[in-house]
Amino acid sequence: MRILQVALSLLPPDDPPIINQKQPMSWYKRLREGISTATKSKKDVPEGIWFQCKNCKQTSTTRELRDHFYKCPKCDYHTAIGSAEYFELLFDEPEYTTLFDNLISVDFLQFTDLKPYDRRLEETRKKTGLNDAIAVAEGTVNGCRLVVAAMDFKFIGGSMGSVVGEKISLAIDRALETQSPLLIISKSGGARMMESAFSLMQMAKTSAKLTLLAKAGLPYFSLMTDPTTGGVTASYAMLGDINIAEPGALIGFAGPRVIRETIKRDLPEGFQTAEFLLENGFVDLVVNRKDLKETMGDLLAFFNKGQTKN
Ligand SMILES: [Zn+2]
Repeated sequence: MRILQVALSLLPPDDPPIINQKQPMSWYKRLREGISTATKSKKDVPEGIWFQCKNCKQTSTTRELRDHFYKCPKCDYHTAIGSAEYFELLFDEPEYTTLFDNLISVDFLQFTDLKPYDRRLEETRKKTGLNDAIAVAEGTVNGCRLVVAAMDFKFIGGSMGSVVGEKISLAIDRALETQSPLLIISKSGGARMMESAFSLMQMAKTSAKLTLLAKAGLPYFSLMTDPTTGGVTASYAMLGDINIAEPGALIGFAGPRVIRETIKRDLPEGFQTAEFLLENGFVDLVVNRKDLKETMGDLLAFFNKGQTKN
């Protein structure tokens, strides 16, 4: 608008510009028709065909990324993926059945932060096509039965609310019923603050429920991916019979800044990474995503539980 005002002020006063106040002025006008390209002849680039790595900034195609187990083909950086991708990577064929999809969170506290929680839930469901921050599925991995509960970070930061807790509880019931081992794939910022104490209660609920698996002699595997923090680390993520982590994953309870300020000391190099935790005994295995299915297959065969008949 400022440019327009300057341009108008340069015009001689006896030649006033004709401006239609109702319609905005266009920068240029097509004078001749018939010189545009027909829509069908346009070479469309399919949406989302390129992927730029967060780590090395190099680009590759999304197809290359998928063929490379959703890791950067240039630097092996493990990109953030959701439950559907993990199910596809893990299960045989891949064929699996999703369970308890009908559970959705409700705003029982009428909680409002930047926006009301019920509106946030509705918008997130619409945007992600997911019902909550965790999905449960069952199938076979190298012929062995497995129940998998995988978290989705894009659903309110993979936060643990009452639905996440309930779905884990139901997944444990399903594992007990079918005598299958359980794998939980964590990717979470922690507890869902909009559910306050109801969210924190899920830590006790899931931890207590996992003891039933131990009593039944069924193994529980925990896979911690980037990031696994807060109440999720402080409950089921760290309780695996075998705790597995993806390379480079951030795993911790409080963030490094809070810890540094509390203990008033500098933190060691690589603090809260999967590799650091492996070195210090908090994690049993760091597994590259391309070896995940094979490793899970080996572990399931080792524990020799839930073996299918065929
Ligand atoms: Zn990269």
